[in-house]
Amino acid sequence: VKGHEGQGMRRRTVDPSRVDLAALIERGTELHGHLGPYLVAGIRMGLLALDLLESPGYFGIEAESETGTVPPISCLTDGIQIGSGCTTGKGNLRVVAGGRARARFVTTDGRTATITLRPEAEEAFRSGDERSASERVSLAPIAELFTCGVDLSLGRSAVEEEGLPREGFSDGRRSPARLPHAPPL
Ligand SMILES: [Zn+2]
Repeated sequence: VKGHEGQGMRRRTVDPSRVDLAALIERGTELHGHLGPYLVAGIRMGLLALDLLESPGYFGIEAESETGTVPPISCLTDGIQIGSGCTTGKGNLRVVAGGRARARFVTTDGRTATITLRPEAEEAFRSGDERSASERVSLAPIAELFTCGVDLSLGRSAVEEEGLPREGFSDGRRSPARLPHAPPL
């Protein structure tokens, strides 16, 4: 039994379709020190990963963030910690060099999702102040923010998408594009 997986330990979970995004953004801001569009994008990216991979978050999933460690892009990584529950302290979040707003998520049973922030969405970050940019990111439809590639093992058909399915997956799951938006910050 690994250190974290001890019996009797109560684990938190995240349900990305029911989460209070505004509360997560508040928590992310507490952790990170300021509100910003990359932080909010990271939170939504983490939630999207859990939704795509049907993961409860925190455990049984690993993330590799390609942001490197130079802000503002690296601010995304703190958002990923909040949204997915993958953290450096638990050893299931790794940050690699790259300076790219992209992350790969892998569940223990081998399902993977690679999620990339759309360049045009990043472009929009540069207009306006941090608060209004953050608000736009919190309100934007998921499909306008991210592209992703998903490989769902376990006998499911693999989905490789440029963009996100708007009408749900072939196996009947709803489209992640319908994840909740935040109310104005
Ligand atoms: Zn920041």
